[in-house]
Amino acid sequence: MKVYNTLTRKKEEFKTLKDGFVGMYSCGPTVYNYAHVGNMRTYIFMDILTRVLKYNGYKVKSVMNITDVGHLLSDADEGEDKMVTASKKLNKTPLEIADFYTKVFFEDLNKLNIEKPNVIPKATDHIAEMINFTEELVDKGYGYETSDGIYFDIQKFNDYGKLSRIKLDELLAGARVEVNNEKRNSYDFALWKKAPKEHIMQWQSPWGMGYPGWHIECSAMSKKYLGETFDIHTGGVDHIPIHHENEIAQSEALTGKMSANYWMHGEFMLVNGGKMSKKLGNTYTVKELEDKGYEPMTFRYFCLNAHYRNKINFTFEGMDSAKTSYHRLVNLLHKHKESDLTVSDDLINDYKTKFENAINDDLNIPMALGILWNLLKEEKSRKIYDLAINMDKIFGLKLKESKPYIEEDEKIEIPSEVEAFANARIEAKKNKDYAKADELRNKIADLGYLIVDTKDGFEIKKK
Ligand code: AMP
Ligand code: ZN
Repeated sequence: MKVYNTLTRKKEEFKTLKDGFVGMYSCGPTVYNYAHVGNMRTYIFMDILTRVLKYNGYKVKSVMNITDVGHLLSDADEGEDKMVTASKKLNKTPLEIADFYTKVFFEDLNKLNIEKPNVIPKATDHIAEMINFTEELVDKGYGYETSDGIYFDIQKFNDYGKLSRIKLDELLAGARVEVNNEKRNSYDFALWKKAPKEHIMQWQSPWGMGYPGWHIECSAMSKKYLGETFDIHTGGVDHIPIHHENEIAQSEALTGKMSANYWMHGEFMLVNGGKMSKKLGNTYTVKELEDKGYEPMTFRYFCLNAHYRNKINFTFEGMDSAKTSYHRLVNLLHKHKESDLTVSDDLINDYKTKFENAINDDLNIPMALGILWNLLKEEKSRKIYDLAINMDKIFGLKLKESKPYIEEDEKIEIPSEVEAFANARIEAKKNKDYAKADELRNKIADLGYLIVDTKDGFEIKKK
């Protein structure tokens, strides 16, 4: 099995620390708001990774934290704690906020058929571990105290920047003027913050009342549940330059050992080519998609069409075509289920090998999905059904529980040529090439179909 390691910027042969066992840590949600489908893309990536590891016979211990304190409005330690902001806005305690959004988060994971991690530690349950971690870093000379907290001195850690490949001197040269002039370097980050009296979340520490920094959570909890060195650490690409860089600095400064051997990152989901984020207000939740008529499996299918290291653009046109494809896939599958015919074992083994090669090549799921489609286009056979169900251990598209989509299937069968023209027409419209768009509309008409633009995309009708 090969995986792409952000640390080395290479696809590497995957080797575990212990034979047959994988320890994996994934950065989980900050539970101050609903997780959006962009976040969900990252969790689907983590889920696929776990499934591929298990398919290869590894026993996996997966740990995902719940951040319920310490994540400030900016990842670079500035602004108010996100939990505190939400708590003031909704007039609820941070605990109520965290419980509510954690519950919804796991409901969403369940809807998307994302397997629950084995250990789900909450930051507020690990304050003692974080204090100990910070104390040890101070003792070793990596942490220092200022009037508002304990900071990590990034110049003391020689490898600082190794994940994002930033050179420390360049980073420091380009630094903004620091507001906090007690910090030794502007990129030093808080391990612990001293709390003003009115701060609603605070704990006793050797430095008075306060609360932990965000990065220390993951270092303390991964060490507690997976040990000083573990196999895989995952997260979204946004975590590479700050959060994961800081985690590596803390963990490796403390132990003198590699923290994780493989760092794997999922690319972002965009909206209309731009950033999807709560701040910009252009996010959708799983529930909102359901309300618009998209089953969670449609969204999962949509995500599987892009490799996890490529960006994916969320559009309702894309969701519509994922919906159509998913329904067709299910219907085709059921034709195999009911068939009495058989195919050769060679054919089955050939598809199985191709599929395994794809998933083991740094989780090439789009290719694996293409292989499934080709398989389903073969002579109808129960053996093919069984293989497809086996492949679904990776895709997680609930194929076994699925029922044929009768109404969908009874709608007109649109030839793939027409569909291709329709998609090309949308592309042309996007590029403002209206002449080409019209030409494509005519081509569709020549084949006997009409294309009707709708609010969320288009519909194809028989003339
Ligand atoms: P947060 O709750 O903001 O800490 O984010 C939770 C996870 O979602 C992190 O692993 C982020 O890297 C990831 N994430 C945030 N925004 C997106 C996005 N637009 N697309 C994919 N992943 C994202
Ligand atoms: Zn983390």
